[in-house]
Amino acid sequence: MPDNRDSAEGAPIITVRAMSKRFGDFEALTDISIDVRRSEVLCLIGPSGSGKSTLLRCMNFLERYDEGEVRMEGELIGWRDDGAAPRRPLPSAVLREQRKHIGMVFQQFNLWPHFTALQNVAEALLRVKRLPRDEAFARAEAALGKVDLADKAGNHPSGLSGGQQQRVAIARAIAMEPRVMLFDEPTSALDPELVGEVLSVMKQMAAEGMTMVVVTHEMGFAAHVADRVAFLDRARLVACVPPAEIFGATPADERIRAFLQTYR
Ligand code: ADP
Ligand code: MG
Repeated sequence: MPDNRDSAEGAPIITVRAMSKRFGDFEALTDISIDVRRSEVLCLIGPSGSGKSTLLRCMNFLERYDEGEVRMEGELIGWRDDGAAPRRPLPSAVLREQRKHIGMVFQQFNLWPHFTALQNVAEALLRVKRLPRDEAFARAEAALGKVDLADKAGNHPSGLSGGQQQRVAIARAIAMEPRVMLFDEPTSALDPELVGEVLSVMKQMAAEGMTMVVVTHEMGFAAHVADRVAFLDRARLVACVPPAEIFGATPADERIRAFLQTYR
């Protein structure tokens, strides 16, 4: 894993400014401004339908935001930055270039069933990064080692548990050496006994300085691993604060209190 702690720790990697997103007449995100700082773990929590996935997906332009800006190290994500109105999206080759720096892990693992774990991790390095085969496979092996699956490199997804499959998906993202990793409920599809192994890999990544945005219902992870916790409710960012302000004391905001009640 690249050492992200070498420079400017705490400086924003992603800045979201006054960002709004509609689906037809429905406003899924309203006037969101938030930074993702280098080497931080930012957890996104909030009720179902509050806009967490949409916010994550706007960060890599899987969803086109309508208003405002998402920038990665200053560069406008998704839209051409030429001041033209209406805005036009970037050419797909440029967008692909931007996305190389943003890893994403979904609830569903999306592994290729006919490939081994190792091939699954190597594939993006071959196709997207166009690395030579031996280099791609060497990097893929190292990435599998990071998620503690060196011994399962030859298994196909059908021969892996859900937790192991999700760790392969994480290895696949790590191998690309992204500047930031986005996780959308990475443990929600797992049997309860498999959640821990995935969270512990994520915790390890955090300790090594990876910048991470994590949508999660794992309040223990948010409380103990996050540097900051953002709470979304009905398309709005209600708070973005250190976890102690949400989990330690009684939160001032009634919406946060009501949400946390559902976990007791
Ligand atoms: P969360 O991840 O917090 O559960 P989402 O970001 O998935 O919430 O969704 C926020 C709101 O936007 C929900 O009301 C959802 O129904 C709506 N939504 C999400 N994606 C679409 C879409 N592609 N088309 C229409 N509505 C959508
Ligand atoms: Mg969601």
